Amino acid sequence: MERSIRNSPLAANDGDSELHLDRWRELPRRQTPPWPDPAEVAAVCATLGKKPSIVMPHEVEELRYRLADVCEGRAFLLQGGDCAETFAGNTESHLLGTTRTLLQMAMVITYGGSVPVVKVARLAGQYGKPRSSETDSLGLPAYRGDIVNARQVAESARVADPQRMIDAYVNSGIAMNLIRAYPPDDLTDLEELDEGAYDLLRASSAGARYQGILDEVERARRFARVWGPTERQAVRESKVYSSHEALVLEYDRALARVLGGRAYATSGHFLWVGERTRQLDHAHIDFVAQIANPVGVKLGPDVSPQTAIELCERLNPENVPGRLTLISRMGSREVRDVLPAIVDKVTAAGAKVVWQCDPMHGNTEQSINGFKTRHLDRVIDELLGYFDVHRSLGTYPGGVHIELTGENVTECLDGAHGVDSRNLPDRYETACDPRLNLRQSYEFALLLAEILRG
Ligand code: PEP
Ligand code: MN
Repeated sequence: MERSIRNSPLAANDGDSELHLDRWRELPRRQTPPWPDPAEVAAVCATLGKKPSIVMPHEVEELRYRLADVCEGRAFLLQGGDCAETFAGNTESHLLGTTRTLLQMAMVITYGGSVPVVKVARLAGQYGKPRSSETDSLGLPAYRGDIVNARQVAESARVADPQRMIDAYVNSGIAMNLIRAYPPDDLTDLEELDEGAYDLLRASSAGARYQGILDEVERARRFARVWGPTERQAVRESKVYSSHEALVLEYDRALARVLGGRAYATSGHFLWVGERTRQLDHAHIDFVAQIANPVGVKLGPDVSPQTAIELCERLNPENVPGRLTLISRMGSREVRDVLPAIVDKVTAAGAKVVWQCDPMHGNTEQSINGFKTRHLDRVIDELLGYFDVHRSLGTYPGGVHIELTGENVTECLDGAHGVDSRNLPDRYETACDPRLNLRQSYEFALLLAEILRG
């Protein structure tokens, strides 16, 4: 399989009538970018259709095998990164900050919780943003992410520009190149790189609480270094897959390639459909149903158990483990009430899914002056609720999906107390959701390690 994939050129479409890669175009669709000129969109997509893949089918298949391990309870899925990446923010330090944070969280979870971790970044393609409203608070057309328009406060900046899909492709390829090529040891060496985070942790109450796990992680690391894992294992351990929301379908379709009768979205390894676009008979679900990549769907508090079953039938008719991830994002107040019936029904139907918890998006709050924030207390409460539900039903809580950064920002608040507006970004930054900072990401990983060891 790998051999044939490596030796075959990938086709934009092989004419296989079983593949309906363009059927979404005929279906109702939410969040459609208001492109002014369809002919220009078509021209850009024709250009993208001839470009090399950003990710390769054999990697996509490899991720699916690894997610099958998660599905069957032998590994844990850690997914995280920015709410939306920007082109200006696509710098070496930002990319390495996110990657390093994920890898170091994974290390804490692996060694502290004794479970292998599959690492998936919201990176190298997460340039689109679904919006709740067509216009922003000033009445301008909404900013929809750098792949569609510009964030600047001007009518002209908000015009959807298809050329931005080319910029997205270039930025994504550059980001993927860096993540692939960076020496794994440089990203996973706790001692070298974590001084800052350790200092922050030690200074917080979590430092004392988690000291035992931190010591164990360090001991296990030392043992592994002495024992000497093979280079191949070390590389595999630091492999980070890319993911983004399948939102701007023109882009993901243009980068789909067909190999051996299967269509692969080569714009990223893992694609998910968001809460606002998961209607069963609409465009987004139809498109991801056609591709062979592992895919996810966000499930908000309004999802019925019946809808969850229908999503499984639609997106994973052959019931392949690792193919489908159901990402619950219920909110801390609803997770314990709403999630059990969904998990129960999906399990009773025998559907194989990865159950992943996104404790962020159901807990986003507007606070003073319209700033968006999240309280870490509520994020953690949803996470605990998710584990409670799965433990009581005997199902496997397979992973988390979070928004984080390796930078020392103040976007999520530690407690449920007031906002320190001095540390908050300007109003228009609020187009993006608040992320956990480096110390909060560490605390989150330590908490996961503690929960997973039981
Ligand atoms: C997101 O993941 O950034 C997002 C918008 O999530 P959701 O679709 O769950 O609201
Ligand atoms: Mn978000």
